[in-house]
Amino acid sequence: MSNFDSVATVKKGTYWQPFTANRLLQANSPPRTLVAAKGAYYENVEGQKLFDTLSGLWCTPLGHAHPLIAEAVKKQVDTLDFAPSFQMTHNNALSLAQRIADMAPEGMNHVFFANSGSESVDTALKVALGYHRIKGAGNRFRMIGRERGYHGVGFGGMSVGGILSNRKMFAPCMMPGVDHLRHTYAPEHMAFTRGQPTWGADYAEDLERLVALHDASTIAAVIVEPVQGSTGVIVPPLGYLQRLREICTKHGILLIFDEVISGFGRMGAPFAAQRFGVTPDIITFAKAVTNGIVPMGGVIVTDEIYKTFMTGPQNAIEFCHGYTYSGHPLAAAVGHVVLDVMESEGLFERVAALEPVLEDAAHSLADVPQVADIRNIGLTAAIELKPAQEGVGVRGLAVFEEALKQGQLLRVTGDIISFGPPFIATENELKNMMQTVRKVIETVG
Ligand code: PMP
Repeated sequence: MSNFDSVATVKKGTYWQPFTANRLLQANSPPRTLVAAKGAYYENVEGQKLFDTLSGLWCTPLGHAHPLIAEAVKKQVDTLDFAPSFQMTHNNALSLAQRIADMAPEGMNHVFFANSGSESVDTALKVALGYHRIKGAGNRFRMIGRERGYHGVGFGGMSVGGILSNRKMFAPCMMPGVDHLRHTYAPEHMAFTRGQPTWGADYAEDLERLVALHDASTIAAVIVEPVQGSTGVIVPPLGYLQRLREICTKHGILLIFDEVISGFGRMGAPFAAQRFGVTPDIITFAKAVTNGIVPMGGVIVTDEIYKTFMTGPQNAIEFCHGYTYSGHPLAAAVGHVVLDVMESEGLFERVAALEPVLEDAAHSLADVPQVADIRNIGLTAAIELKPAQEGVGVRGLAVFEEALKQGQLLRVTGDIISFGPPFIATENELKNMMQTVRKVIETVG
């Protein structure tokens, strides 16, 4: 019996899907099932080809079924399929850490592996707490996140995150001492901006207000996505990240960039830190590091942070933290292939070259009456639709469903369509993607 045939025996609801309106889906239709993927396309159970407009979930920039990755996985399984990550290690993890450090901004030379974005964020928050404690500033326990921020679903990441729907069910159990900056989205000043808005750098002054409210001596770290991805490509205003950096440095607060989406090339540079010319103290990464094929994440920290952990009071273990699968041999092997391909195919440069193509294609929809805003940076874009009269998200859902019929797998949250196509997409595919979205919106009305 093939896997596919066995699906007939699965009872409705046995599989509880993550971040999915399960009740709605189960009532209306069978699960939306993908059966294959190659290059920039998925194939669904109905045999239809779907253009992968979000690189999976922002994680497959090299496209699907890359032969070198398949080869590396097989070879690694045959050689060293698992190695304990505590006390022991293996060559691929060591050398991948070195390669990532070499790509990171200057002075960030130390890599700790995790297995997902959520784990990477929790690791980053714990590094920040540990750093201050070793320095004798254990009272620095507060974390500052940002409205509309998405930092995964661990208790730490959820607490610093700024999405009400992800928080409200768990509200009493948030991490204590968390506060939030305002998000930087002000459509009245920045709608239809190409790239970074010139208005809004002053939002960074929120941090001075929180320092005045809580006192710097209680604040451990500020965590932001350089570009807010999951909540619809909110691009940082020019000068905003620089100002955040200055205020953090002035008050001894660590700055964490959550680069789970922006890391590994999506901004046309290894990390958004380099694209925006701002070096944080900690970078989180995940997703693209392994092209989404074997889960992997991690954090990169500054020499100063690492040195502090290595020279602090002598404990048996300096940092009581880690995962069974940290630096997993399969993930590390795939990570090497991904970096090889990114280098040999010049994919960061390719992203930089595709950025204006995606920008023009996205903004060509500015005349569509249902469109409220279009934003873009690097190989990301968002088209925000005006909510339908029936309510927020109704038009968005209809667009998602119509797009499937027209051969595109879209990522729609509420009424925002987010785009993060694979780096291997052609110029024509990007143009066609947006032209199809135009037709989809026109069909839905
Ligand atoms: N941080 C950011 C910025 C993300 O975009 C995501 C996932 N979209 C996460 C953290 C969480 O990653 P994961 O789903 O791998 O836990």
